[in-house]
Amino acid sequence: MLTGELWPAHPHTYQGECLSSWIVRTAHHNGLKIQTFSDLSFGKHNQIWNRDIDKLAPSFVLQTMSNRAAISLKEINKTTLKLYINRLFPALKPSGIMRWINPLVLHHRKHTGFGMQFCPLCLLEDSEPYFRIAWRLSLYTFCPIHQVMMEDRCSCGASVNFHRIELGKANQFAPSTLDECYQCGLRLGGVEPKVIQLLPKSVYTIWNRVLGVITRGFVNSGPINYERLILLHQICKIIVSPRFNQKIIKYICDKSDLPVRDFGINRYFEQFDVNERHYILQLAWWLVGNTNKKLKESIRKNAMQNNYLYRDSRDKMLHYLLKQNF
Ligand SMILES: [Zn+2]
Ligand SMILES: [Zn+2]
Repeated sequence: MLTGELWPAHPHTYQGECLSSWIVRTAHHNGLKIQTFSDLSFGKHNQIWNRDIDKLAPSFVLQTMSNRAAISLKEINKTTLKLYINRLFPALKPSGIMRWINPLVLHHRKHTGFGMQFCPLCLLEDSEPYFRIAWRLSLYTFCPIHQVMMEDRCSCGASVNFHRIELGKANQFAPSTLDECYQCGLRLGGVEPKVIQLLPKSVYTIWNRVLGVITRGFVNSGPINYERLILLHQICKIIVSPRFNQKIIKYICDKSDLPVRDFGINRYFEQFDVNERHYILQLAWWLVGNTNKKLKESIRKNAMQNNYLYRDSRDKMLHYLLKQNF
């Protein structure tokens, strides 16, 4: 560790913080705008904000942060989506939609998608508001700490772009905090929280446990069942497919008392907004649960076809799992 190269201010990461949030805070703690800080630290020719750095952080960014904040690379890797390799997906893909990751949809340096979610109560309680890596996950639709829905946009409709909050504020002395909406300036912590009504109970128990484990960054929290989550994702894909979902949605809703909803055009599960994903996951968790009982029953009753479970998936683990059970 080159201590001589430490930044004057080098704040440590908060519990579960994502890399982009930490870099922006470090810039502000040093009294610099994010662009100036990035040019000075990573080089003018290395533009880092035109990509999803929490997903694909270049190694020179990780190494620089490690050297100049005196934090080990191992700790820094936990601020990126690498944390979920072999826990939620087998590897990170450089492009395209990835299983369980909300896309940011970058246009130049702006996030035009709604890939970074937030819990208004977590932001409100933070002594210094920061964004968590777990908030990028598409199955993280409610906050297990506060039992409220996650939000994926400000009340003005803007997505989270905390790396852009200082743009156009040349003369501002004190930097904004990260919970400020870049478009309207209101605090995201001020968004009215929506308490979740999570029924049926069986769905709630298992889902809440998985999100709890993810929130703790897998530390002292027991394992999560990787295979069940692959199956859960496959069911989510079937539920959002107009071609394959006709019978299964009605079947689940009849049995579980959940309302029937229509999804319109065909999209990836990860491209739905947080409220839609929450509904889809409720149905999928109901069917998947802890055992294969309900899923087998749905196949027996012809609400689902066995071969749908294999559809479009090259995941070896899924094929193995299905071969054993169906
Ligand atoms: Zn919360
Ligand atoms: Zn706003």
